[in-house]
Amino acid sequence: MPAPLAGSSASLAFDRKAAVDRVLQLMAIPGPSCQEGQVVEAVRAELLAAGYSASQIVVDEVHRVSPAGGEVGNLILSLPGTMKAPRRLLMAHLDTVPLCVGSKPAIKGNVVRSKDRQTALGGDNRSGVAVVLTAAVEIARRNLPHPPLTFFWPVQEEIGLLGARHVQLKALGNPKLGFNWDGGSAAGATLGATGAFELHIEISGIASHAGVHPEEGVSAIAIAGLAIADLQANGWHGLVRKGKHQGTSNLGVIAGGDATNVVTSKVKLRGEVRSHDASFRKKLVSEFKQAFERAAGAVKNTAGQAGRVKFESSLKYESFVLKETEPCVKSALAAIRQVGLKATTKVSNGGLDANWLSARGLPTVTLGAGQQQVHTVDEALQLDEYVNGCAVALLLATGQA
Ligand SMILES: [Zn+2]
Repeated sequence: MPAPLAGSSASLAFDRKAAVDRVLQLMAIPGPSCQEGQVVEAVRAELLAAGYSASQIVVDEVHRVSPAGGEVGNLILSLPGTMKAPRRLLMAHLDTVPLCVGSKPAIKGNVVRSKDRQTALGGDNRSGVAVVLTAAVEIARRNLPHPPLTFFWPVQEEIGLLGARHVQLKALGNPKLGFNWDGGSAAGATLGATGAFELHIEISGIASHAGVHPEEGVSAIAIAGLAIADLQANGWHGLVRKGKHQGTSNLGVIAGGDATNVVTSKVKLRGEVRSHDASFRKKLVSEFKQAFERAAGAVKNTAGQAGRVKFESSLKYESFVLKETEPCVKSALAAIRQVGLKATTKVSNGGLDANWLSARGLPTVTLGAGQQQVHTVDEALQLDEYVNGCAVALLLATGQA
């Protein structure tokens, strides 16, 4: 059983057994990105059972604008306030990574793991989904007073934050404070996250017979090799540190060629660069582009022809950092302390749904719901952290912090 809450008070009382049952049920539902239909239905059914009306619950059409498609949109529940205050948004993404499909959650002491050791658990992010749902259910069941509230469960986080990127802020009721559950320790508040570009590189060489006339060909593989060696040797691949600037880069996918007796004419690569520093992020992209262009120019056939590079970069998500004086941060830290925990803050090197909401004018802090070792078969959920996350969410949803 979860450890008792430190500093429990009447205002923190909620049905912990129901909260634990809820997360166990949600983690067992298959729902990788673009296939969140069943989990949308499960959350909707529990909202209806708690007394919300069908007209308060909206499933938007984000899958029709998402480049990934998908079977269902974001789930949104909007409530007018019973008190006058700025609108608050509580959110958590619905999808899991594919490794979680087939999860069989089993409790051992304070920890939940999947009984099937071939799958991940799905605590990322069903524990967040359950934290937000618990706040909504408790408010309805116990008729708790609250500021204007939007509960938001976006789809397609794991494949590029697409549900949060493409949601209409108007459909969320223009909230002023955002709280996102997608992380580990209930005491930790993530105030910012890195930004990233995606790279698509296509190298065109010239094909020729590799045994008869290799000198007439221009090898796209040779061009790729030179470019990568150049980036690696000059410190632009991997962890990149230049003066006081820092970032990361990775060429993660390379594909090309179909026979050993042909000089390869096409190679495609995909990669990414990340940095908290927007101008350094652009610098990283530009170094990659220049390295590939130099390499293309350096590989020539006997007729003097060189290769070509088509280089495309697209923004995956913008970086952000919230100040500790930002209202959502102040409230989040106060709620964590009221639950009896020592609040800590950090900035993440991965992208979060909060990136897109913060970039679009809704400052959003990301909080913990007990997840550990996410995206691996060793994934676990710490139940006491999860229950503390529920307590933090309920304080925030009812405007007590
Ligand atoms: Zn997540």
